[in-house]
Amino acid sequence: MYYSDSSIVFLNGQFIPAREATGSLYDQGLHYGSSVFEGIRSYATATGTRIFKSREHYERLHYSAGVMHLELPYSIEALTEISYRLLELNDMQDAYLRPLVYPGPNMSLTPSAETHVFICAWQWGKYLGDKLLRLKLSSFQRPNPKSCFVAAKASGHYVNSILATTEAKSEGYDEALLTDQHGYIAEGPGANFFMEKNGVLHTPPLGNILPGITRATVLEIAQKLEIPVEERLFTPAELREADAAFYCGTAAEVIGIQSVDDYSFSKKWEKTRGFQIQQAYKEVVLGRETFQPTLYPIF
Ligand code: PMP
Repeated sequence: MYYSDSSIVFLNGQFIPAREATGSLYDQGLHYGSSVFEGIRSYATATGTRIFKSREHYERLHYSAGVMHLELPYSIEALTEISYRLLELNDMQDAYLRPLVYPGPNMSLTPSAETHVFICAWQWGKYLGDKLLRLKLSSFQRPNPKSCFVAAKASGHYVNSILATTEAKSEGYDEALLTDQHGYIAEGPGANFFMEKNGVLHTPPLGNILPGITRATVLEIAQKLEIPVEERLFTPAELREADAAFYCGTAAEVIGIQSVDDYSFSKKWEKTRGFQIQQAYKEVVLGRETFQPTLYPIF
């Protein structure tokens, strides 16, 4: 699914066939989860292939590598150039790019002197699909910001995500919704959360969540569409007074939520702010400069 015989990947300065790319079983990242990564999308636009917010993603990769003490010897510009070249070599336009910086062999709990940079790309549909989601309020909480750098995309953080998604799916739900260490709504295993009440969007502030690049894009869109947004903490109980909700993330894009546990949101998705934002998001990623607010009437 992730590569075929003709796929090319970038590994440590070279473009090589995916089937020839190998790593060591002694790599620290494999044992302790100390690698860092990104998830980026590219789109076929009217003016050619466009990697959406490449700078922001590679800035975050540099931040993640920095806090995990991993050397990342490529600038943001170089990483962007490599990514465009990789897409070209794989003859891809609409794609999902996965850069990974991983520490080499080291079984001690100290930073590895050796790091590797790997970038691959594959075609990936919307990660959470197209249908409204039925969420389970997870029994797991997001990691305490004093236990790690929550703003970093470190591989080890995804143990928490895998546990939460697996629990939700095993109980018949589509996905999980997690609280923070104080019990406030935080985010999904791989997406940021927004709820709508009386035409106002509410989303948890930065601090206990991954600062999503899609979340930032949603805030920009909301501003342009004059949709009020409050970044504030709220409890699961408050969800039961909300009219609608949605998840957003690079892989999932913008996807509506039907219910959390036994509570179903009352507003028809097509009449929500989330739907307006979902429509506008498509325009933004396709690089269509101007918003057409008349297409997205505020009801
Ligand atoms: N939260 C978590 C835990 C995630 O893994 C992701 C996906 N990277 C997001 C939020 C959304 O982030 P972004 O919009 O930058 O993809």
